[in-house]
Amino acid sequence: MQTSVTDQYEATLSFENQFADNLPGDQDRNNTRRQVSGACYSFVDPTPVSAPVLVAYSKEAAAELGLSEENCRAPWFTDMFSGNLILGDMKPYAMCYGGHQFGTWAGQLGDGRAINLGEVVNGDNQRWTLQLKGAGPTPYSRSADGLAVLRSSLREFICSEAMHHLGIPTTRALSLILTGDRVLRDMFYDGHPELEPGAVVCRTSPSFIRFGNFEILSARQEYDLLEQLLHFTVTNDFPEIDASGGVDSYLQWFTEVSRRTASMIAHWMRVGFVHGVMNSDNMSVLGLTIDYGPYGWLEGYDPTWTPNTTDAQGRRYCYGNQPYMAQWNLMQLANAIFPVVKDEKRLQEALDSYRVTFQEEWQQTLRAKLGLHTLEKHDDKMISSLLELFTKTETDMTIFFRSLANLKVAEKDGDKLLKFVEDAFYTPEEISQDHLENLKNWLHLYRLRLLRNDLGDEERRRRMNQINPKYVFRNYLAQQAIDKVEEGDYSEVEELLDLFRKPYDEQPERHHYAAKRPEWARNRPGCSMLSCSS
Ligand code: AMP
Ligand code: MG
Repeated sequence: MQTSVTDQYEATLSFENQFADNLPGDQDRNNTRRQVSGACYSFVDPTPVSAPVLVAYSKEAAAELGLSEENCRAPWFTDMFSGNLILGDMKPYAMCYGGHQFGTWAGQLGDGRAINLGEVVNGDNQRWTLQLKGAGPTPYSRSADGLAVLRSSLREFICSEAMHHLGIPTTRALSLILTGDRVLRDMFYDGHPELEPGAVVCRTSPSFIRFGNFEILSARQEYDLLEQLLHFTVTNDFPEIDASGGVDSYLQWFTEVSRRTASMIAHWMRVGFVHGVMNSDNMSVLGLTIDYGPYGWLEGYDPTWTPNTTDAQGRRYCYGNQPYMAQWNLMQLANAIFPVVKDEKRLQEALDSYRVTFQEEWQQTLRAKLGLHTLEKHDDKMISSLLELFTKTETDMTIFFRSLANLKVAEKDGDKLLKFVEDAFYTPEEISQDHLENLKNWLHLYRLRLLRNDLGDEERRRRMNQINPKYVFRNYLAQQAIDKVEEGDYSEVEELLDLFRKPYDEQPERHHYAAKRPEWARNRPGCSMLSCSS
């Protein structure tokens, strides 16, 4: 039952609605699927769910909203964040956006299964938009049901928080709630749909505006509205930019979006994160990682690897392509705002700041991953030859960098140097003699380079361990937690949430979570490749 007032519960949140109050909405209030023109959103209520059960909440994301753990455990919390409790000051709405999917303009997409409840302003005057994902159909649901299943919701919930603690810009996740309803999904797209447990995640972000919000207005030639959305975004989300400057402000904004996107991608590359669906509707203008679908983490380092089965052929969104795909998406955003900005040269200059920022940050990141704090002429070559070596035998990227931090520069023996990193190899018995020699040669070179780096083993190790995580959210870990929740055991979700609070710490009692992916997980669905069917 949907409750419209707080008679039974004392909810402690109050809501504002800057987005809906300042931008035009859809005139049609019916929840029917349609093209929505001349509007940035449509008002729509979440669909009530039958028996919501809280699986987990993030106490850190809650604290950002001014909510205590006690608040999170109160009945109103589960009711509100499953979509069953709508307060008087909420104006729930779904956003209208379009996007380029796999390189092709896809027209209107929009929040097909996401509904914004409103905005909460915390004690530090920070504004957070609260969004339910999987809360039922909206005008943008096209032919789908507006729902989400447990497996994809759990993956989004834990990964958002893990990314945050890894220091990577991301939308956050407040809660994971089972709805008590079952949802039909054809997980392998092979004509065998099954009923799966339904779930809702409450995501939080300063804003959920995507590249696609601008693209749809431009494609429809709604240029006044396009400018209105630009002005709103700059005013609301980029207070450091003076919004009164018209075109100048928009160019400054686009430069900033380009820089933030570059920085986000450098972070993804640092930890081996592969988003999987970098369509322009999945790119946040705040430079935040958004829309956790068939993402994955590099285990064996392979630039051509993609976790997304839908992308297995083209590999458009594979690990190594991510920097180019982000730039491609920024180009679509530049094209979208061109009718307002009308200055190709300055737009191009703004776009160039993506390449410049990415190159700078990525080079710095790679040096830091190796513990180098000075710059030498041949460093780039040494780094690229290491990445090349990674591709010759299946080498776990996370384990390699973490182990490399333990290397002692006084060690001159090649075999002993190799011992420092041998844990990272998936099939050590298959490594050729040639490759072993190449690895030893590289380690010697690296050791000599470190001797000129004068940090000392301990300090270098400490610094490397601050940038090379010990724990990443390997797909098989997610699958194990999903299996347990399906059996009614939520403890693994708590364990993973806690593990990822400190992904750079050793946490010796939890070493097994840092192990190489077990062989059984190599080809198991959900552990290696994933589909978009969530
Ligand atoms: P995604 O690939 O998850 O980023 O989604 C692409 C588009 O499909 C967006 O417009 C989503 O809102 C929409 N979509 C994805 N899953 C569903 C669903 N179960 N019901 C309705 N719309 C969906
Ligand atoms: Mg999406």
